[in-house]
Amino acid sequence: MRLFCSFLLAAFTLAAEPADWVWSARYVLTGAAPRRVIENGAVAVRGDRIVAVGSRSDIDRRFQPRQRLDRPDALIAPGLVNTHTHAAMSLFRGIADDLRLQDWLEKYIFPAEAKNVSPDFVRWGTRLACAEMLLGGTTTFTDMYYFEDVVAEAAKEAGMRGVLGETIIGFPVADAKTPADALKLADRFLARFAADPLIVPAVAPHAIYTNSDETLKAARALANRYRAPLLIHLSETKRENDESMARRSRDPQSAPRGGSALPVEQHEAGQRSGAGREDADVGNFRGIRPRRSRRQQQRLEHVRRDGPRRQVAKGGYA
Ligand SMILES: [Zn+2]
Repeated sequence: MRLFCSFLLAAFTLAAEPADWVWSARYVLTGAAPRRVIENGAVAVRGDRIVAVGSRSDIDRRFQPRQRLDRPDALIAPGLVNTHTHAAMSLFRGIADDLRLQDWLEKYIFPAEAKNVSPDFVRWGTRLACAEMLLGGTTTFTDMYYFEDVVAEAAKEAGMRGVLGETIIGFPVADAKTPADALKLADRFLARFAADPLIVPAVAPHAIYTNSDETLKAARALANRYRAPLLIHLSETKRENDESMARRSRDPQSAPRGGSALPVEQHEAGQRSGAGREDADVGNFRGIRPRRSRRQQQRLEHVRRDGPRRQVAKGGYA
């Protein structure tokens, strides 16, 4: 009898697949269709991949994990995606609030950045932001700032994914004296992170009101050359809309059809998204041409599926 039981145990052990981790929780929320809520669920992980999701009893039967984490009162869910950040600006928190966007930028933020932004500032500000995002369940973020290579290093250090764009703006800033310098920096950034498993490098002209048409076109050309996303603030405020109407006789999102400087691919992408103005930079993901690895494309699909989750600033979206 003992021999028979040993045989059964051995057969059971042999049948179980190896896994690095099994995580179990009161609820498991699946991300892929059909989306499900599994009560008393579990997830098996091997390397950096989820290999199975199901009921805890099913996963325990199928897998022999090296380690496990059981959280009977928790929810396991796909990571949230923050589609618009300037992560390092967490260090400016509280210096100016409840203002019109233009006053906020020109009287407070741009001067504060001129005095304070450095690689160290960006590293520590991004580290803080990553810690806060992870505490809230965010695992991917879309960022536009200066020294974006440092943002990428901090994101990877935190184990986060990032769609990250080096900022191009029409006045001297901490990492570039001119837009031409910023474009060169963006070029190097795109080349450095082109094949990174966690980072999707992007080009980020700040806005149509802080860049010349020539710079916007150059930014679009650079993004196209790398098949990279282009991130931009677009149609944030009534003032931006009014200025665009006065200058181009079109609102910022419609401007490309008039042959102006806005990136056509971005514009078309925004239109296809079917979303409102707040979707402007999210829309850029939809315009990506597919010369990407399957894995990179899957990451972008993930960002697209989750759609825009943006913080509303006074006077518009930021
Ligand atoms: Zn912004």
